[in-house]
Amino acid sequence: MNAPQERPHPAPTPLTEPYWSACRTGRLVIQRCAGCRRYVHFPEPACPFCRGTALGFEPVSGRGHVLTYTVIHRPFVPGFADLAPYAVAWVELVEQPGLRAFGGIRGCPTDGITIGMPVAATFTDLPGFGPIPDFRPLGPEERDGRSPATPRATRSCPARAAPDDHGPVEPRRAGVRDVGERPRESTPPPQPEHIRRRATSAAESTPAPRRPP
Ligand SMILES: [Zn+2]
Repeated sequence: MNAPQERPHPAPTPLTEPYWSACRTGRLVIQRCAGCRRYVHFPEPACPFCRGTALGFEPVSGRGHVLTYTVIHRPFVPGFADLAPYAVAWVELVEQPGLRAFGGIRGCPTDGITIGMPVAATFTDLPGFGPIPDFRPLGPEERDGRSPATPRATRSCPARAAPDDHGPVEPRRAGVRDVGERPRESTPPPQPEHIRRRATSAAESTPAPRRPP
């Protein structure tokens, strides 16, 4: 029996190092533009909304809902065989409409994942690298509270609900109302082209979890 292959590691750059450093302390931080105050993810050298270059990293709640996901049954990337079947998802964070993060869904059977499912960031140790962010289902007792997300990977998954029980709309709106630190907008900010491309390619054929470069 061959030894399990090591999973590929993220390769932090000067641009993404603050993101990974925060992960090592169990915090999810997202780039935010000092000019227009919009969050930007994945990290960029310039704001895709206003082209400003004053971008810093700020902690976020880690909460959001599943926009879309896919289940990988036959991993083609070395090191993921022991995970299969596993799910990866685009998650819209509550801080801003269209603010999408990518990660695995942990602590939940893959057939228990639903579009619109409330989730929170959790950190999984990648051997040889350190904590990397994934998402876990948000328990019913956590959805109404304001307590910050706790980094733990195991949790019972809520039973699959009927489509009418929780669509993608209400969880997102509830989360947006919780923020309260930016002016409400009648329409979401435009989604940068590069994020739309990534979302499309991830939904169509994602072989393994992708991380910021
Ligand atoms: Zn900006």
